[in-house]
Amino acid sequence: MLEKTKLYTKIAGYALVMLWTELRLALRGVIVRRQAALFGSLGSEERTRNIVIVGANFAGYRVAQIIAKNLSPRSPYRVVVVEPNSHFHFTWVLPRFCVVKGHEHKAFIPYGGYLDGVIEGSYRWIQDKVIDIDRTTVRLQGSEESIPYEFLVIATGAGVQDGLPSRVNCTEKTEGIKRLQSMQNRLESANTVVVVGGGAAGVEVATDAKDLYPEKHIILIHSRDAVMHRFGKGLQKSAREGLERLGVELILEERVVNEDAATGVVTLRSGRQITCDFFMNCTGQRPLSEVVATLSPNSISSTGHIKVKPNLQIADDSLPNIYICGDVADTDTPNPNARSAMRQGTIVADNILRAAAGKTPSYVYENQWADGVIKLTLGLDRSVTHLGDGNSELLFASKETDEALMSAMAWSRMGAKPFEDAYMDAHAPEAERDINKS
Ligand SMILES: Cc1cc2nc3c(=O)[nH]c(=O)nc-3n(C[C@H](O)[C@H](O)[C@H](O)COP(=O)(O)OP(=O)(O)OC[C@H]3O[C@@H](n4cnc5c(N)ncnc54)[C@H](O)[C@@H]3O)c2cc1C
Repeated sequence: MLEKTKLYTKIAGYALVMLWTELRLALRGVIVRRQAALFGSLGSEERTRNIVIVGANFAGYRVAQIIAKNLSPRSPYRVVVVEPNSHFHFTWVLPRFCVVKGHEHKAFIPYGGYLDGVIEGSYRWIQDKVIDIDRTTVRLQGSEESIPYEFLVIATGAGVQDGLPSRVNCTEKTEGIKRLQSMQNRLESANTVVVVGGGAAGVEVATDAKDLYPEKHIILIHSRDAVMHRFGKGLQKSAREGLERLGVELILEERVVNEDAATGVVTLRSGRQITCDFFMNCTGQRPLSEVVATLSPNSISSTGHIKVKPNLQIADDSLPNIYICGDVADTDTPNPNARSAMRQGTIVADNILRAAAGKTPSYVYENQWADGVIKLTLGLDRSVTHLGDGNSELLFASKETDEALMSAMAWSRMGAKPFEDAYMDAHAPEAERDINKS
């Protein structure tokens, strides 16, 4: 009881700190806009010193927003964002949208709205990929442009080779929608489905699939003795019960050693073979740190993350103007997620604003267990929310009515009107456009 009271108190403290951060940033933004109105601001051609941000999903987009909104109106700096994707990828909904039809467009949120209200000329957006970084410039893949930087932020996140259900692995929204629809169709026509990986993505996709298609044989394979093994025992138990309630077959302490796509035969470490007609791999996330492999090879850890100092500068004394945040950063975050990525983005932005003003970048990042709060769906109409600090756990079971899982809220938070997208008006065939507005 005492432990749980402590947990509630700590959550309240965490929420207050978050609120204070938002207020502080909003107030600074208001001051900047007032200064611009009173004294004018520099145009983009006069802002010759670049703060380049590589990758703009949860971490990098947050950095871009805070810096662009808070740079002084007469600052010679501007933000340059390099991001290959046409849209922000709302990863949380990918497992659900691999199963349930009709919402796929909601996983791709138009860029731009999050930067509404920034002073004109304070940022440039480039849809491209950075393929090389040296001490002074980044080089782009598509245009082959070299962009000089004074500060550099690497927020390249993590990826998987197999793509969905974990990542989309394509840059255009239209193609992303097709890939989700292809997953839905393959699932619909399958009889036996093997899902590999008992983390959140695997548990969610398996329970959704079994809930929507109770007649199908859904098998979840996990290498540990419990699903959701990175979380507390209470969540592990709830997840297991959720899988059992629906009738998902759970195989624990097994690994897939071979998957023969032609025959559909999946071979496990024990030698057991399962024949399936759809195989979904929810494992294998790895940090995308190759961009610094040549510049600073010693900064890449054995896990592939980029090592950082407490203030999120790269752990390389010769590169004090390079900062790292989000899933690619080696911060020992127990369960990296969007909250921790965005909090790291805030620290990086604050530090660059200080450094650009000639001050010491003194904000430091510390892991907060409250970042790890997770809401796990266990079928189409229920979920469990888990809070735990390692000593104690709180679990809240809920009924779910929103099939699109908070997509509308995410669009609003990212400054976009759910689910309006001028890109789709221009790119999607007419029949699709109507669906994409609902
Ligand atoms: C299936 C799934 C479900 C999840 N559900 C939740 C959830 O419910 N709640 C939660 O809090 N977290 C969730 N997460 C975790 C969350 O998505 C990640 O922690 C978060 O995306 C990390 O943000 P990031 O910005 O560091 O990296 P990413 O989101 O991976 O973004 C990195 C960005 O960098 C870009 N990039 C990569 N390489 C380059 C390059 N060379 N040049 C330019 N740009 C580049 C990419 O295109 C991408 O836009 C989920 C993750 C997955 C996979």
